Amino acid sequence: MKTSQSDQLFAIASEYIPGGVNSPVRAFQAVQGNPVFISEAQGCRLTDVDGNQYIDYVCSWGPLILGHSNPVVVEAICKAAQKGTSYGAPCEDEVNLARTICEAIPSVEMVRMVNSGTEATMSAIRLARAYTGRQLILKFEGCYHGHGDSFLIKAGSGMMTTGVPTSPGVPDVLAAQTLVAGYNDISSVEQHFRQHGPDIAAVIVEPIAANMGLVMPDPQFLKELRRITELYGSLLIFDEVITGFRTCFGGFQNLIDIEPDLTTLGKIIGGGLPVGAYGGRGDIMKMVSPSGDVYQAGTLSGNPLAMAAGLATLEVLKDSDWYDRMEVLNYYLGNKIKTIFENHDLLFEINQLASMFTVFFTEDPVNSFADVKTCDTELYGRFHRALLKRGVYFPPSQFEVCFVSCAHELTDIDLTIEAVNEALDEVVQG
Ligand SMILES: *Cc1c(COP(=O)(O)O)cnc(C)c1O
Repeated sequence: MKTSQSDQLFAIASEYIPGGVNSPVRAFQAVQGNPVFISEAQGCRLTDVDGNQYIDYVCSWGPLILGHSNPVVVEAICKAAQKGTSYGAPCEDEVNLARTICEAIPSVEMVRMVNSGTEATMSAIRLARAYTGRQLILKFEGCYHGHGDSFLIKAGSGMMTTGVPTSPGVPDVLAAQTLVAGYNDISSVEQHFRQHGPDIAAVIVEPIAANMGLVMPDPQFLKELRRITELYGSLLIFDEVITGFRTCFGGFQNLIDIEPDLTTLGKIIGGGLPVGAYGGRGDIMKMVSPSGDVYQAGTLSGNPLAMAAGLATLEVLKDSDWYDRMEVLNYYLGNKIKTIFENHDLLFEINQLASMFTVFFTEDPVNSFADVKTCDTELYGRFHRALLKRGVYFPPSQFEVCFVSCAHELTDIDLTIEAVNEALDEVVQG
């Protein structure tokens, strides 16, 4: 595989951009390699600057549920751009997207658009603190809620590969306001509440953990979170930035019938453009400025291009059979992968849901951060490199989720299966 153009760009990038990338997980540090630079993407395929093609299972880390350059989305963006790229004044598509979100997620009565998932979660906890008059936030080990100061404590995603529990630069006083419990470990939550209950403003959780690889919630765990937060008058925030519109047309909360007080969104609702949103109960959301006095603003919030891309994406998904089709392909792929791993006598666990999956290089079921930590990341790195060489782009970290998109077809999945088989031949031979 020729990578000279990518390597050259990476060398220059490293001079001008910290680590050569604008988001840490894009660097291939966790898989001991250099990133490939992408020049174009269509459907489920990426093309790099050296002309290599890859079947993409990262899909921009979640937003591209329709695949790359979906014609409906591209047309919506082009049409919007011809009418102006930003108004700094309200426009109709903001209303349309807000209404679409509120209609799709029953617990969301009102919603505020922002520019990223990070902004959404930061704003949601400010609002939760204002509403409750309390300071403490409870999060879970291995959950990722963007890079806000309060969340960079035992966080998932890129934080998992740095091995630093709390990022330098986070003030101690702020870190002290974040409590950390174990995912799927309700007794660790109860312990915090017994000690600090009346001071806890909110519990924030990924209803499916998708930033330490894919870790499914025990259904009882989420139910208990709802019960305990209600009991203590704390707010429950579902961070559905990755799960929103991923498992069904709405939040994962729709499927499990639990209503959080606030929900954060991003990724899919922006159709590949920079977007986030937070919403929830009307009485809480009405505290946001200018209807209330909890300040939160954004020069580009509700940007017409992003609204158009998001609306186009949601229109394609609505009342379609895409969710079923992606799930069928995902499980077909997962079952083949299982057989291939077994044939190679490799220990593994595969977690799958809807259009998401993670192959963990470990021997025991993966239900918690501690389980995730048992993975052989060096082996994953070798697997990743062997796949890349064969034209399959898996996330450059053991702790990230693979996505099957609407643009993946059976032929792409079959090519992937072949590549996995060959890649494991190589990995096993050492
Ligand atoms: C991606 C993600 C975020 C952060 O969103 P950005 O747009 O990257 O700031 C927050 N929470 C979850 C659950 C995510 O997956």
